[in-house]
Parts: sequence; C-alpha cells; structure tokens
Amino acid sequence: MNYCHYCVLPNTRPNLVIDESGRCNACQSSNQKVSQINWQERQSHFQQLVDTIKQKAQEWDCVIPVSGGKDSTWQVIKALEYGLKPLCVTWRTPARNAIGQKNLDNLIQLGVDHIDFTINPDVEKKFTLAAFQKKGSLAIPMHMALFGLPLQVASKFKIPLVLWGENSGMEYGGVNQSTLGGKMTRDWLLSYGVTQGTLANYWVSDQLTLKDLSPYIWPTDQELDSSGVTPAFLGWFFHWDPVETFRVAQEHGFESLSGTPKTGYYKFADVDDEFIIGLHHWLKWYKFGFTRLWDNLSLEIRNNRMTRDEAIQVISDVGDEYPQEAIDKFCQWVGITESSFRAMAEKFRNKDVWTFQNGRWRIKNFLIPNWIWT
Ligand SMILES: [Zn+2]
Repeated sequence: MNYCHYCVLPNTRPNLVIDESGRCNACQSSNQKVSQINWQERQSHFQQLVDTIKQKAQEWDCVIPVSGGKDSTWQVIKALEYGLKPLCVTWRTPARNAIGQKNLDNLIQLGVDHIDFTINPDVEKKFTLAAFQKKGSLAIPMHMALFGLPLQVASKFKIPLVLWGENSGMEYGGVNQSTLGGKMTRDWLLSYGVTQGTLANYWVSDQLTLKDLSPYIWPTDQELDSSGVTPAFLGWFFHWDPVETFRVAQEHGFESLSGTPKTGYYKFADVDDEFIIGLHHWLKWYKFGFTRLWDNLSLEIRNNRMTRDEAIQVISDVGDEYPQEAIDKFCQWVGITESSFRAMAEKFRNKDVWTFQNGRWRIKNFLIPNWIWT
C-alpha cells in the first residue's frame, strides 16, 4: 500500500495514481480547480449551453437525475436559477428511508416535474445478489439504473440536456483525460459508472433476461446523439464542493441527519438509503483497504478544512466500521443470513492488500501503525 502524501487515499483506489512527488491525481486535479480554472468563463459556457438548449427543447429543457440528496437539490436549484424546465428522474432505492422521502418531497416542491421509477423488486433483488456474488459489489444495479434511467428518459422524450452533478473522475481521481471534461460519455460511464465496466447484457442469466434488465440499459453515445441529447456535468461549469452544495441545499429545505453520519464523514451525505450505499462503501475496506470516510476526509484536506494529521486522527477515532445494521437490513431484503453475507464478502478480500497474521486479518503497511484489527 502506498498512500498519497497530501490526502489519505491509497493507490489501491481504482483510477487513483500517485506520482513521484507523492501526490495523487485527485489532489492534482483539485489544485488545478483552484489555480488554473477560470470559473467565470466556465459559467458563461453554461449560459451558452442553456441558450442553445432553450432553442431546441420542446417540452422539458433538461432531465435531472435526483435522489433528493444535497447534490441533486443543488442541481435543481441551479437549473431553476437559469430558467430551465427540468424533468427530474429518480431510481427509487429499495432502501429509501423517511428522511430520504422527505428530502425528495422537498426537492419536488422547489417546482419541478418528477418521475419516481421503481424497478420490479424481484428483478432488483436477483440482480443485486448476483452482483454481490460475482463482483463483490451490491451497488452495480443501483449505479446502472441511476445512470440508465435518466438517459433513457431523455432519449425517449427527446429532452436535449441531462444535467449530472459532479464529475467523480475529476473529484476522486481519473486518468483518462478524455473523461475529465464537461460531457458524460459511454467511455466515462465504463470508467466511473461503478459497474466494474459491465453493461446490462453482461448480467443476462437463467434468472434474468435482457428484457427484465431493460431499466438498467445505457443508451449508446450514438443513440443519445441521434435523439439530440447532451449529458453534461454541472461540476464542470461550477466549482463543486460538498460543503457548499449542502449549504445551498439546506437554505432550500434540505435536511441532514441529526446523529452520526450513516457512512463516511458527512452527516449530510448518503442519508437517504438504509443499506445499499453504506454496504457498497464498506466493501471497499475488503477490496481496497479504505472506506467512504477516507474519501470524504481527503476532500476536506484538499479544501483546506482539515490537515492530514487531523484526518488520520478521525480515522483512528472511528475505528472499525462494520455496518451491522445495514447488513441486517440487506440480508432481510434479499433473504440471506448474515453468515452467508460474510462468506460472500470474504471472497473479495484482496490478498494484495490484506495479510493473515496472529489469527487476524490486517492490512499490510497500513497508514495507522497502532490500529486495532478486529
Ligand atoms: Zn491525494
């Protein structure tokens, strides 16, 4: 394991590269955001995009993929500020909770049309379990749907713009320059779409037909082009900072958690879902030796709200993050026991990262020397 000398991320993180000076590409890109990007100019590019879209659009100007979270609330506020008429589209998580519903209702009240898309639970359960068993990720269906559905809706209703939030390639580390711009492409989806490079057809099996999987299908770049759809990242046009999107969303009625964060460092992020997102992030511990907390703290370091030492202290204080409650809820939802969940997760423990010593699994060359291994 090799850690970035500026943030706390290890080189095991997919798409993260640490250069000879010890700085990772996410830290470099964050530096560029402050020093090299002319945000005034980017903003005027957005105005130009809006003007073009307004001329083309028939019914709705843009599709906004929304969960009700702080980022999607911010996206809606921005779109309305620029006079766009959005059709918001939600992939309805089977793990939606009360605060998630409340925030989604709040977002709709801002003045938008909205589709709450529920996938056949039988299909979703089978697909989620298959993704967990085969790839060690139970969020592949979620990501496939939350990217696929808004693109399908835009393509089918001929809505000229899909307004995504952050470009995670830019925010968390990306290597392929062609994917770090303002436009979302198939290439981008395959690199950062969190489906381990798989498309819906990969998941066809005895249990799931391609027709079953239709909500998960991503239209191709050509299909989107021929329907006149441009998928764009707002985070390319406006400086993206989770604390700032939270502040703006909160001013418009968004509510964060009052207790401890569900996962990671922020009480205002990943709040709307009871188990899929939390388990998805926790499984990174087995696969790559870090969790959502590390991603969040790295952002805090880059935004100068925390030093690297303070971040390491937070990780030490939080300690082991075994998400008992989320595991219980997930097992109940798909109908498996906790011991089979653990056995499935164990298969994906990365032996390049972990070693078994003195009766316990531990991470080789871990960032925190006096860590208590459970
Ligand atoms: Zn870094």
